[in-house]
Amino acid sequence: MRPILREYERAEKFPSAQLKKLGELGCCGMLIPEEWGGAGTDTVSYALMLEEVARVDASTAVALSVTNSVVAVPLWKSGSEQQKEKYLARLSRGEILGAFCLTEPQAGSDAAGIQTRAVRDGNHYVLNGTKAWVSNGGVSGLYIVFAKTDPAGGSRGVTAFLVELDFPGFRISRYEDKMGLRLSRSAEISLQDCRVPAENRLGEEGQGLRIALESLDGGRIGIAAQSVGVGQGALEAATRYAKQRKTFGHPIADYQAIQWMLADMETEVSAARVLTHYAAWQRDKESHSREVGTTQTRPRGSSAPRAKLYASEMANRVAYKAVQVHGSSGYSRETDVERYYRDARVLTIYEGTSEMQRLVIARDLLRH
Ligand SMILES: Cc1cc2nc3c(=O)[nH]c(=O)nc-3n(C[C@H](O)[C@H](O)[C@H](O)COP(=O)(O)OP(=O)(O)OC[C@H]3O[C@@H](n4cnc5c(N)ncnc54)[C@H](O)[C@@H]3O)c2cc1C
Repeated sequence: MRPILREYERAEKFPSAQLKKLGELGCCGMLIPEEWGGAGTDTVSYALMLEEVARVDASTAVALSVTNSVVAVPLWKSGSEQQKEKYLARLSRGEILGAFCLTEPQAGSDAAGIQTRAVRDGNHYVLNGTKAWVSNGGVSGLYIVFAKTDPAGGSRGVTAFLVELDFPGFRISRYEDKMGLRLSRSAEISLQDCRVPAENRLGEEGQGLRIALESLDGGRIGIAAQSVGVGQGALEAATRYAKQRKTFGHPIADYQAIQWMLADMETEVSAARVLTHYAAWQRDKESHSREVGTTQTRPRGSSAPRAKLYASEMANRVAYKAVQVHGSSGYSRETDVERYYRDARVLTIYEGTSEMQRLVIARDLLRH
């Protein structure tokens, strides 16, 4: 990725060829069993892969995180055999990417407040509404779209659908002009009488929000790993620069002010990595327990929100310090730390804002 990054960032070019190669390496279906074309690894290995990719480029990491965590996994867990045969192996091998369409212009954190409607019409559902901020929008072959089949049903009125780019009535209406992650695509999608075959309903009617929230719990481990990668990349760039840059006749790394910044950055990246790996390990342990039929108690809730909250805020602090270590050159688009700084900003926003993570953590804490 490294040699092409600056050119692609300026041109806002999506790294299709690089993602294809990552797909060939197994990075698009890491959590999917081999029988469905996946790599069949555990969540800890998946987190390591995302960290390594984000250490160089956070945009590529988010494309991988979305297609793995919130598209391939829910399809594998909730899809019919026919749906898996049609889409899962192609997703796992990276032949197509996946996109997750929950957010709407008027509903992000409040996922039950979506307004997209799905009405049954014979062997089809007819979808109408607008989806916003869809990562991989326009470059994906498969879109999981959440829509209300029962508007009065609240959180139980949402259903998930598998939608293809060329289904009639499905249109990319625009792309967001973003602060960071400029290699990644974020699309607004318009659904106008979009006809989706009934066989493309994912799970039962009314199960959509459960599918979305379960996927996002796994997705948060991906975003935590992405944050660790961004922090690690920024730390490495700052350490290299501190050894090279001289002021008052000495490398700036000789000054305690710089050393303390680097020491704090190193400590915070390590802490976030441990939290992320713990959350990944906990998820693996729980799926193993389910497979062997033992009950797994989770007295303090999932660790994914804690990992996502801490790692995403850490990446922002670390990227800020990495720019500070670089002085004026850190403010130039010629350096990597400037990109890390912009890319880090979204980490506390998507797949649940920091405020939403705190809400979940406090709820679990107070419940027990
Ligand atoms: C680059 C990017 C990529 C994205 N990719 C996807 C994608 O692939 N698929 C998808 O579906 N979505 C995607 N999103 C959307 C993202 O998940 C939402 O932006 C996010 O959930 C926040 O929703 P919102 O922007 O509507 O903010 P809002 O929900 O309007 O929140 C605004 C502010 O209010 C706070 N707030 C809201 N409610 C409360 C409360 N009860 N208590 C305290 N504070 C509160 C929030 O924390 C935030 O600070 C993406 C967003 C970005 C920026």
